[in-house]
Amino acid sequence: MDEFLARLARFERTFFPRYEQTYRRLVQEGQHPKALFIGCSDSRIVPHVLMNAGPGELFIARNVGNLVPPWDMSAGFHGTAAAIEFAVLQLQVHNIIVCGHSHCGAIRGLYEEPPPAARHLRAWLDLARDAVLPVRESPEALRRVEQRSILLQLERLMSYPMVAQRVQAGQLFLHGWYYVIEDGQVLVLDTESGRFEPLSHQIGAAGDATAPATA
Ligand SMILES: [Zn+2]
Repeated sequence: MDEFLARLARFERTFFPRYEQTYRRLVQEGQHPKALFIGCSDSRIVPHVLMNAGPGELFIARNVGNLVPPWDMSAGFHGTAAAIEFAVLQLQVHNIIVCGHSHCGAIRGLYEEPPPAARHLRAWLDLARDAVLPVRESPEALRRVEQRSILLQLERLMSYPMVAQRVQAGQLFLHGWYYVIEDGQVLVLDTESGRFEPLSHQIGAAGDATAPATA
């Protein structure tokens, strides 16, 4: 615990003074984050580092497997659903990013059942079960299921009336990202092809699109 307390002290001593004005402004004016980031609880995913983001820039909902529960759940406590509603209705974010990743324990859990005592976990993982392929488990199959699950979660996001309404009005954009931990690479869902493509492909395509206008 001493190590954590030392880290807190370091935050107070070095990080906060550097961003003091930003924090004070965010308190006075309130937060206006640009995006809701739905990511896995996995300790290897560090959204602020991935996006070079500082205080006030990202509204984050993390859970096991970066999963999105259906909107019409009639009972229970649904933190992720509440975060989605808050981000869209209160904060009026313009982007929602569902970020999955390689070597996701949640996706592996669909093949290797969690212990019986973990009944919440077993039920939760059902939110990704439709992404499972009818093939033998292999590293390649797991990568594909991890990516298919992102599509499934994006689809389920559209079951939220406030999400569907704003997407259709062009006020909200949904994004699917797949972070390959070992390569330090983020693959981005190409909405045309439905495939996850390297960032260079996306940036290249954007550059191509703007080239004629600047010529
Ligand atoms: Zn994960």
